[in-house]
Amino acid sequence: MMELNIQLFAVPDHRVSKTRKRKRRSHMALEVPGMVKCPNCGEMIKAHRVCPKCGYYKGEAKVEINEDDE
Ligand SMILES: [Zn+2]
Repeated sequence: MMELNIQLFAVPDHRVSKTRKRKRRSHMALEVPGMVKCPNCGEMIKAHRVCPKCGYYKGEAKVEINEDDE
């Protein structure tokens, strides 16, 4: 059989080193796009939106936050 036969198939666990496995999975992490740190309270928030934690946006209090539920 001389033809180049490129197929993916199951590989036993012990044929893949921990390093190789971890390198492959280094690309699998989920990303949360558009998250920034609130300059007022430091919470991670969605960019370009009023902070749901402290109600600040662009250095001003825009929304009153009811802190009873904390
Ligand atoms: Zn905030």
